[in-house]
Amino acid sequence: FSTSAAIDEPINPSIQIDHTQLLINGQFVDAASGKNFPTFDPRTGDVIARVAEGDAEDINRAVAAARKAFDEGPWPKMTAYERSRIMFRFADLLEKHTEEVATLETWDNGKPYEQAAKIEIPMVVRMFRYYAGWADKIHGLTVPADGQHHVQTLHEPYGVAGLIIPWNFPLLLYSWKVGPALACGNTVVLKTAEQTPLSALYVSKLFHESGLPPGVLNVVSGFGPTAGAALSSHMDVNKLSFTGSTATGKVVLGLAANSNLKPVTLELGGKSPFIVCEDADIDKAVELAHSALFFNQGQCCCAGSRTLVHESVYDEFVEKAKARALKRVVGDPFKTGIEQGPQIDNEQFQKILKYIRSGIESGATLETGGEQLGSRGYYIQPTVFSNVQDDMLIAKEEIFGPVQSISKFKDLTEAVQKANASSYGLAAGVFTQNLETANTLTRALRVGTVWINCYDIFDAAVPFGGFKMSGQGREKGIYGLSSYLQIKAVVSPLKNP
Ligand code: ADP
Repeated sequence: FSTSAAIDEPINPSIQIDHTQLLINGQFVDAASGKNFPTFDPRTGDVIARVAEGDAEDINRAVAAARKAFDEGPWPKMTAYERSRIMFRFADLLEKHTEEVATLETWDNGKPYEQAAKIEIPMVVRMFRYYAGWADKIHGLTVPADGQHHVQTLHEPYGVAGLIIPWNFPLLLYSWKVGPALACGNTVVLKTAEQTPLSALYVSKLFHESGLPPGVLNVVSGFGPTAGAALSSHMDVNKLSFTGSTATGKVVLGLAANSNLKPVTLELGGKSPFIVCEDADIDKAVELAHSALFFNQGQCCCAGSRTLVHESVYDEFVEKAKARALKRVVGDPFKTGIEQGPQIDNEQFQKILKYIRSGIESGATLETGGEQLGSRGYYIQPTVFSNVQDDMLIAKEEIFGPVQSISKFKDLTEAVQKANASSYGLAAGVFTQNLETANTLTRALRVGTVWINCYDIFDAAVPFGGFKMSGQGREKGIYGLSSYLQIKAVVSPLKNP
């Protein structure tokens, strides 16, 4: 691997951390308990800042503020056009602050700065513009009912939306949830991931500078079993949207059910197949299979983590996939030209190394990688396993790291059987030049997204979500919008009786 940057001498980010408190009712405040917790630099394991640690009491305060802003206004009582304009202004302001925001994101998460600044923050801006555009275009139907009644439907916000996000794409997932929730007129309490609390506080401040009224968007940093659980089980939260692991998704759904039955959107884990057919353009497939897995240090719920290759092109594919991984540029994510930074934290780092050991022990062929890079922080060599069998742990469980697992199939029937042999069903990649093959696979795959001859295309308008244990409901696009709206039927007689 080319480690173009000296991993052990991290570059100093030229930014000051201004916001580390909770954002409740438009004010930065300490946690009620006075407690705080450290957030770490994944490049070194050093503390970047200490952040207020919200728990149940702070969630109560935040929900009360959101409740008031919903019930008494101003948010749902503003015209939709006014709400839309505030969201557009925020998108503009965010765009102006791309450098600072991307710096925070890289520092707290470890992702390459160029990826944050050139891909992710622009996607966040686009997402807010997309949903700002929807805010004043939400309307119901008139329904031709039997009998002498006029029937209409109103599409109304739920009220207070509780949003829980993970650490792998802190701001992108912020936009996927905060965007549609606010566009529909809900108010929000957001619980960020404990590993990456910084960027959401910074941009939420910008949102208030754009004219967002106090109480409409509250941000609570803190841990899952305390702050996250309190939000999930809160009796005054009317809608929940969660992105994270399948195990935590089950807990959150249970908490929602056992409290007030709030509807829940879940975007959970995956073990997505990337299917390379015999007629695929191999060089392109190698490159895309590589990025499908290694993008964001392998920390994507939709990572193409099972590379399934037709036996006739398998040897060539493995050789080229290995060569590509060896060329991957790993280093300090603040340097230019870096493709891969460190993993998020020590826990994930150890977990990934454990999966690598399990791959070796279970008899998969380690083509390249497998070790830590450098002596500080959480860098892992781009790792490629071939000869991976379906019953191996590395073929079944989500690794969430830079570990590509390649296995072989002999025909389309076997490809489908292998692809669907998972409790997950988030996404799949299909590589073929043959339209019939593409159509056959597309219909057969039990997943929420099929990318044909491409991967990881995340347009604001395209729905995203999982089949099976990868989740329920959809985010982005009009489908994501509808998950923040409830339908009221209004019936009146045509003539007074
Ligand atoms: P990951 O493995 O990505 O850290 P988690 O699902 O544990 O996955 O975390 C995703 C989000 O869920 C984080 O914001 C985390 O704090 C939160 N979380 C973790 N446990 C709980 C819980 N018991 N209740 C509510 N939220 C939780």
